[in-house]
This record gives sequence, structure tokens and C-alpha cells, in this order.
Amino acid sequence: MTLRLPAFTAPGRFWRGNLHTHSTNSDGILAPEEVCRRYRAEGYDFIALTDHFVGRFGYPITDTKPMRTNSFTTILGAELHSGATGNGELWHILAVGLPESFAPSNTPSFVPVAEQESGPEIAARAVAAGAFVAIAHPQWSGLTLADARSITAAHAVEVYNHGCAVGCDRPDGFSIADLLLTEGRQLTLIATDDAHFSEPDHFGGWVMVKAEANEPEALLAALKAGHFYSSQGPELRDVRVEEGHLVVECSAVSSVVAIGWGTGAKAVHGHSLTRAEVPMERLNNTPWVRAAVIDAAGKRAWSNPIWTGATAKNPRVL
Ligand SMILES: [Zn+2]
Ligand SMILES: [Zn+2]
Repeated sequence: MTLRLPAFTAPGRFWRGNLHTHSTNSDGILAPEEVCRRYRAEGYDFIALTDHFVGRFGYPITDTKPMRTNSFTTILGAELHSGATGNGELWHILAVGLPESFAPSNTPSFVPVAEQESGPEIAARAVAAGAFVAIAHPQWSGLTLADARSITAAHAVEVYNHGCAVGCDRPDGFSIADLLLTEGRQLTLIATDDAHFSEPDHFGGWVMVKAEANEPEALLAALKAGHFYSSQGPELRDVRVEEGHLVVECSAVSSVVAIGWGTGAKAVHGHSLTRAEVPMERLNNTPWVRAAVIDAAGKRAWSNPIWTGATAKNPRVL
């Protein structure tokens, strides 16, 4: 039996995009036009400008429609903030694909206040409005597993946040994402920049989205369907489970890693691997497996999880 990630079987081609970005409409350094110009110049096919949706900035959903060209598009969105996390700080929730009519929350600034929606509530409202929603920068926020578990509407976890890598050495979302996957939550995994252009926080992590057209609706549907992978540089060309192995085809890398629940993981190392078959004995019984590849410069790419069908009662599906 072969289990193949739909990103590699869906029709269309991969489009490169950054899903988390700020401008002068909130606390970013550059105007929206200049942010779009720089991403376009860097070769990106699309971005989502996701300014902080708080009262102090006028609850912006930055209008990037005028910055669309024949070869570059934008998805409207915002970073939503409402309610307190377990540590008493304000939620940060990424919403890509919001309508311009999305009603403001009651969030005057970056401190939780009484009489505002909870994080789970505003996330659910964004999903109902059509957005692709991700739990933003879990490590930077100091999220607990209970915090992350509560955002039941989320499609994804932000597993790599380049701004948090550069600005505070806390880029990680994998730890909490893997625990949620192990609880059976069918989440996808996104890498983003969270660029403010206040430091070298741009062009460091992105998604490659498979769609038939570089158009907002098609990209949004593909994101929700999980038809994408995340990268800092390497390309993934196929990821599949086949006869007890995780098979990965990719641009030249030095390591290919299969990662599953608990301590289950196994790596294959080389010099310029473009295909690797990682034996999965060490991942026995895992209900999900995902691929990571690492190139000679230390840049990584990450697949979404493949659900193996294995359960405690039916452990040998692989
Ligand atoms: Zn944030
Ligand atoms: Zn942000």
C-alpha cells in the first residue's frame, strides 16, 4: 500500500508564498506597497499581509488588492488577538483569507481585557468567515499544550516563524504540533516569516502551495486542503509511505528524516540526496509520519503529516 501526500498528487504547480507579514498599518516598518514589492522582487508568487487586528491600529485588514499583478497575488488577512493564554498574555492567531467586512474584536491593544472574545472564539469566527487559521508562534507565545488544544477551529500550527528565530531564538512550533497530531488532531504545518522588516526577519520561511492558478481563492482552498509543504530552501517533490519506508524525493540535501509520535524518528544521511527511503521500524505503530529534509547549508523543508491508519488496536498497517 502506498500512502501519498495530496500536495504531490493534486493538479497544478507549486506557488511560493509568505502567510505572515506586517506593514506600517500595524507595527511593521515598511508600507504595504513596499512589502509587496520586496516579496515580488524576491521571487515570491504571493503573500498575505497580516497586520495586527487591534484597536490601536484601527483593526486593519490591509487592502493589498491594488498590489496584485499578472505574476503576483495577495490573500487578505490579519493576525487576530483576543483573550488570554494560560500565561495571562494575549492570543496571537493567524487568519489568512479574511473578508474585509470581518467585524472588529474588542482588543484595544496588546493586553487582554474583560468582555472580549476568547482565543478559541475568535479563531472559530475567522474560520466561519472563510479564513485558513493557524496557531501562531507557539514557542514565542509560551503556549501550553492546553492552550494549543483549545483552538479547536485551527487548520494549522506555525511550526517555524523566522522573525521569532531571528529576534529571540524561539522559532519552534513542532513540539506542540507533534503532541496535537498524537492526540489525533489533523493539523497541517506552516513556516512563515512574520516579517516586520525591523530586523533580518524576512525571506526565511515560506509555504509552497499546489494549485492550478496563482489566485487567492485557489491558494486558500489548497491551504485548507493541506496541498502544500513548508521550506527554508529545499524543494520537496514527493513524500509517500511505501512498504514500510518513508520515501522522499527532493532537491539535493544531506539528511532526510522521518518523524512520528513519541520518540519515533529515523534519519538517512548522505551528501546530495535527491531520493531517500527511510526505514520506519523505529516509528512502528505511529498514526502519523512527517518528513524533514536538511541541506548542506542547514536549511530545512518540512512536509505535512501522512496519516498511516495505524491505531493502538491496528498497529501494523505500515
Ligand atoms: Zn504574533
Ligand atoms: Zn506577527
